[in-house]
Amino acid sequence: MFDTSNFGTKVFNEKVMKEKLPSPVYKKWVETMEKKDALDRTTADAIAHAMKEWALEHNCTHYCHWFQPLTGLTAQKHDAFIDTKDGETILKFSGKSLIKGEPDASSFPNGGLRSTFEARGYTYWDCSSPAFIRDNVLYIPTIFVGFHGETLDTKWPLLKSIDAISAQATRIVNAFGDKEVTSVTPYIGLEQEYFLVDREMFLKREDLFLTGRTLFGTLPSKGQELDDHYFGAIPERVHEFMKDVNSQLWELGIYAKSEHNEVAPAQFELAPIFNSANVAVDQNQIIMDVLQRTALKHNLVCLLHEKPFKGVNGSGKHNNWSLITNTGINLFDPGKDPHDNIQFLIFACALIQAIDDHPELIRMASSNPGNDFRLGANEAPPAIVSIFLGKTIENLLNQFIEKQPRTYEKTSLNEFGISSLAYLPHDSSDRNRTSPIAFTGNKFEFRMLGSSMNAASLNVIINTIMADSLKDIADKLENHKYRQDKRKAAIDICVNIMKAHNRILFDGNGYSNEWVLEAKRRGLPNINTFIESLSILEDKDTIDLFVRHHIFSIEELKSHADVQYSNYVNIRLIECRTFLHLVRGSIIPTLIHEISMIRSIGITPQALSKKIEQYNLLIEKLSNYADELDEVLNSIVSISNKKEMGLCILKQAMPLLDTMRALYDSVENHLAIENISYPIYENLFFGLDY
Ligand code: ADP
Ligand code: MG
Repeated sequence: MFDTSNFGTKVFNEKVMKEKLPSPVYKKWVETMEKKDALDRTTADAIAHAMKEWALEHNCTHYCHWFQPLTGLTAQKHDAFIDTKDGETILKFSGKSLIKGEPDASSFPNGGLRSTFEARGYTYWDCSSPAFIRDNVLYIPTIFVGFHGETLDTKWPLLKSIDAISAQATRIVNAFGDKEVTSVTPYIGLEQEYFLVDREMFLKREDLFLTGRTLFGTLPSKGQELDDHYFGAIPERVHEFMKDVNSQLWELGIYAKSEHNEVAPAQFELAPIFNSANVAVDQNQIIMDVLQRTALKHNLVCLLHEKPFKGVNGSGKHNNWSLITNTGINLFDPGKDPHDNIQFLIFACALIQAIDDHPELIRMASSNPGNDFRLGANEAPPAIVSIFLGKTIENLLNQFIEKQPRTYEKTSLNEFGISSLAYLPHDSSDRNRTSPIAFTGNKFEFRMLGSSMNAASLNVIINTIMADSLKDIADKLENHKYRQDKRKAAIDICVNIMKAHNRILFDGNGYSNEWVLEAKRRGLPNINTFIESLSILEDKDTIDLFVRHHIFSIEELKSHADVQYSNYVNIRLIECRTFLHLVRGSIIPTLIHEISMIRSIGITPQALSKKIEQYNLLIEKLSNYADELDEVLNSIVSISNKKEMGLCILKQAMPLLDTMRALYDSVENHLAIENISYPIYENLFFGLDY
């Protein structure tokens, strides 16, 4: 068992700062944080000094500016604390080195924002997320910007969106009379799903190690139908791995709350305690890294891909989101009497309006190329964005529409027929696992996000669209005809929002065909693929929205779309090439072995010669399709526009992959085990248990 006294010992948190910094410096830092001012040089120098001393106590030799470029991964540049001065060796770390770094930025994606002759980029310390130690390196969370201040990472937009939502939410809380509130922070808890496979087996699957997912393979006789993996006993080897992960995360101040098996075989989940959005996103990046590195130590590989295996559930990263004031009030907590809690109702309506105005943005920001095989693939959740509130809250809000005239009386809200609301959807019986966004008692759970993604992208969107919706409401509240009676004014606003936006509420089965038709009737978008969802970034309303809240400029939006298009193209091209190589180098030879084995028996009864005929035909089909795919890929290379190139891959290449996969998958189970040179699904799924 790990030592509980070790919690957060590798984090330069407030407690350490208080201990290590001279009291006036600490005070100055706290003040600066509260006011969101820039740090002055003397304070920065003092913090840098304390940070260095603390890092050296923990045997650090290097520090690095840790940042999150548009690749969705993290990057860092290491520098040694050791320097020389007049021939003497000294240990140095100034405020300047803490605040600003200059990584060799030319190789990070920027979507044309920087031409190579001005490839310079800077990192700036993000003092709202604590520095931490891994191995012998002090990690300093930073934002990453271009020479002219252009956004080149996922974190700076997140910080800007946090400011935007705080400003608008505070206006509303203040309007309701709570003047003590000076800021509102989005908090998130990110449940991370992943698969574990044996490392030796992983290395024998070219598709897994080159693309992160299996490109072919059929389900074994036992899949997830028994649901026995869900909350089942954790295999010993995995248990050891989890203990190791937990103890590392513990030292890094991350408390992983649960570690149960997920629905699919070999699938697991790790849910840390929620934190402010910025810190939670950083912690999730750390968690993914710790999972992957620790797995290797245990001769395992951690698969973060959204859909490593066809036919069993994929992996997501549930994004539990709430808004909490600096005085500790959760604005999505309905309290005992939600019908009386007009502030809660206004915030719930604000989210309904935000999501219904921008479902395409939520869909886009939750996705990546890997999530295409998960969203809408008849498993959690569909690609149609909707909100599940649970019966209690939904009924309550719907009565705004039905009973509008009487709602102006304070007491009349009680006449909504719900006298006691002790029953709220905390309860799993009122859980809708098919819903992409679900209210879960005092927070909203966004369930579409892909497991391998940096969560910043989705949270930038949630915060920005919510800021916009709240701004609209705050403007109305401040100018309403019932300006003196905020309650009456707020009810009016809720009534209008519910009338205009209740189409986004849905509590039925999100997997059903009826919902697809019903959503269409309601005019809700159903965008099938990630690459198609990206066009929303070119939409005029989207551009206005981001410019209005100072999150992205037009150029930045365009460049971000370009990065995503390129990313899509690169990932799909790797998948196509890998598949081609496998078809020719592994699948066809497997079939040839099978044929020669049948032939070697000598006698060829009718049934067996039929088999030979079938495999011959299959080989012919597979090589023809492979040639066709080659041709498609050759013709695509000449397209210079990445979006067009991506769409061609989607429409021409991917269907060929699907066809070839279906052909081979339908016979894989019939082949002699000895002729198959790679681990099949059965080995991959159940190789951990024994
Ligand atoms: P489930 O699997 O049922 O969705 P879990 O308990 O596994 O629920 O995970 C819930 C996640 O939500 C945890 O990461 C938890 O810390 C987080 N969470 C709890 N309260 C809040 C809140 N107010 N705001 C944001 N996240 C929260
Ligand atoms: Mg969940």
